[in-house]
Amino acid sequence: MLCDYHIHSVYSDDAENTMAEMALAAAEAGLSEICFTDHVDLDDIDGNPNPNAWRREEYLAMYRSALEKAGDRIKIKLGAELGEANHFPDEAKAIAAEVPDFIIGSTHNLKNTPDFYLGAHGTALYTSKEACAALLDRYADELIETARLGAFDVIGHIGYPLRYIRVCGYPELDLRPWEARLRELFTILRDTGRGVEINTSGLRGTLGETMPAAWLVRLWHDCGGEVITIGSDAHRVGDAGAGLAEGQRLARDSGFEYFCTFSEHKPTFIKL
Ligand SMILES: [Zn+2]
Ligand SMILES: [Zn+2]
Repeated sequence: MLCDYHIHSVYSDDAENTMAEMALAAAEAGLSEICFTDHVDLDDIDGNPNPNAWRREEYLAMYRSALEKAGDRIKIKLGAELGEANHFPDEAKAIAAEVPDFIIGSTHNLKNTPDFYLGAHGTALYTSKEACAALLDRYADELIETARLGAFDVIGHIGYPLRYIRVCGYPELDLRPWEARLRELFTILRDTGRGVEINTSGLRGTLGETMPAAWLVRLWHDCGGEVITIGSDAHRVGDAGAGLAEGQRLARDSGFEYFCTFSEHKPTFIKL
């Protein structure tokens, strides 16, 4: 059973297709269920506050239209990818209460810092190995801060900065030096009943691995983690459902017996 729990539509600035188009493509690809997780980034790409991130009525209208056009072909849930929740804790909690089914808590940029993506697209972020390590240090701190805040169901794409740092001259960098901090993160997630997503978008690009990487999926299991979702992070129809089978295999190989879908922020455990 294939369920894509990270999928974007034109509600997100960087996506190309409507929810209905994405849902029909997912049905065509043989998926049973998808959950839309459009960007609700509380900072914009430059790291400035983004007060227009949550447009509830617009989002719900898109969802209703998708249900009408594709709801008989595939099960469709409505979630959000809530970015930088820890930068605006009160706002994040208020938005989280309005998202029907599921929230991915993501960190695309650090406080008062541009999106990690921009560091590989013209902005001077990855100026030295020491500078990269300092960013990853702050990244680990902000993941933990996000986990403590709790306005999410799973933590999104752990390792996102590496996708950009590695192509900027530091292919050898990874998160291993922060293993103790990541254990701390996983302990908080486990103790609060929250989870980790396996984001398969890295398999399609230069990163060549999932986010988090295989050793971290294993670490999540070894820390007593139970909740995992698997998502393609598709931004266009051609990517709907991409890598889900590989994500499931990785979960199984890491010791998990179940992956999760969500309804009203409650997990359903599905045998792998
Ligand atoms: Zn993201
Ligand atoms: Zn995403």
